[in-house]
Amino acid sequence: MVIRSKTLRLVILISTVLVTIIIAVQLFWLQKVYKYEEKQFNINVSKSIRGLYRDMQLVNDVSDNVQKKIENPKPDLYLLRIDCNPHLDSLWTNLKAELTDFDVYTDCKAAIYSQEKNAYTEEEYIDLPDAYFPPKEKKPLPVLKRDYSYIALFFPHRGGYILKQMYFWIASGGLLLVVLIAFGASIFYLYKQKFLNETQKDFVNNFTHEFKTPLAVIKIAAEVLQQPGISQKPEKLKNYASIINEQISHLQGQTQRLLEIAYTDSNALQLEKEKFDVNDLLQQAINNLHPLAEEKNAVIQTTFSSTGIMVTADKYYMLLTFINLIENAIKYSTSPKINIATYTEGHDCCIAVKDNGIGISEENQKKIFNRFFRVTEGDLHTTNGFGLGLNFVKKIVEEHGGKIDVKSEPGNGSTFIIKIPQH
Ligand code: ADP
Repeated sequence: MVIRSKTLRLVILISTVLVTIIIAVQLFWLQKVYKYEEKQFNINVSKSIRGLYRDMQLVNDVSDNVQKKIENPKPDLYLLRIDCNPHLDSLWTNLKAELTDFDVYTDCKAAIYSQEKNAYTEEEYIDLPDAYFPPKEKKPLPVLKRDYSYIALFFPHRGGYILKQMYFWIASGGLLLVVLIAFGASIFYLYKQKFLNETQKDFVNNFTHEFKTPLAVIKIAAEVLQQPGISQKPEKLKNYASIINEQISHLQGQTQRLLEIAYTDSNALQLEKEKFDVNDLLQQAINNLHPLAEEKNAVIQTTFSSTGIMVTADKYYMLLTFINLIENAIKYSTSPKINIATYTEGHDCCIAVKDNGIGISEENQKKIFNRFFRVTEGDLHTTNGFGLGLNFVKKIVEEHGGKIDVKSEPGNGSTFIIKIPQH
């Protein structure tokens, strides 16, 4: 079957590439915004600290560059060098005022480190209104050993706070993602729908094709039989009656098959297992296909395992399986030379049906077991069929706990191998 939904597949491919690019760009921008917000936070804290140095007498040499007195050993920790012990109350008040002035709205643990004691002597928790995200957790204030005293400013929720500044970006990115997913899902649904439509159309086409020819032949034969002088020609009468009979048998066979497949598809297979010789059943399948084989001058050879292979399986379904495979081997070969081999492999019974037909490309080998799938050259079906046989065969084989494989090369024939457990 030609995939006419090809265009749609191309659209899906292009959309996937575009969506991936959009997501990558989004992530890139989010990361950029995060970096920007980080930088902004750092600038604001530095400004607050400079303000604090201005507000209070913390160092002896005020003329010196304030920036040199600030150390930022970790992103969330600032050390402010001091030469004297500041007045505590005014220190905390000033600090809070400076931080709010420069929009640093996240909680802060402040402490005074004494160089002599190598420990914090004073600690204060500065709670700010718009603080933490996610819920407050207790992060201890790290102690860093220095050869000078300092004020430590520790922002335990710095990361969360920065993310909070990015709410708008994260929300819009998330929204875009949801829209893209919805868009992708709709295109996929559309594709599935289109694919289904096409397979259905194909099926109806094949169906019509399959039934049109026998019906036309029957119509012509019936017209001949209606001719006035026909009773005087018993030979002709017999001939045309047998043509009608033949065509009707063919139609009956096809209808039976369709019903069978439709039935097995909607119901789990009820296997009625019995013990039989696979070689005998294969021979029966070959005999059943004798008319078709004769019509196409097919040569069917058998390389059966000499001892016979007994299996316990559903005989009727197995017969249908063999008929399907051998019929395909005849149908898809111009001058069919078919070999049917049976052998055992461990506890498995193996049946290999080899033909010298048109073969199947690697890509199509994966698809031939799908319902309604038929290989087409252009849009023209050269052989009749519904594309249901192999799907049916696979189902039967798998219900028996076996598996089916195909080895094929275009132009060099195909081999279908079935392996089913003997018991
Ligand atoms: P149908 O024969 O009714 O089309 P099947 O399900 O039996 O349906 O086969 C599906 C398709 O697989 C066929 O249309 C044909 O293109 C391909 N195929 C099956 N058997 C063979 C074979 N022996 N050689 C080449 N092609 C095959």
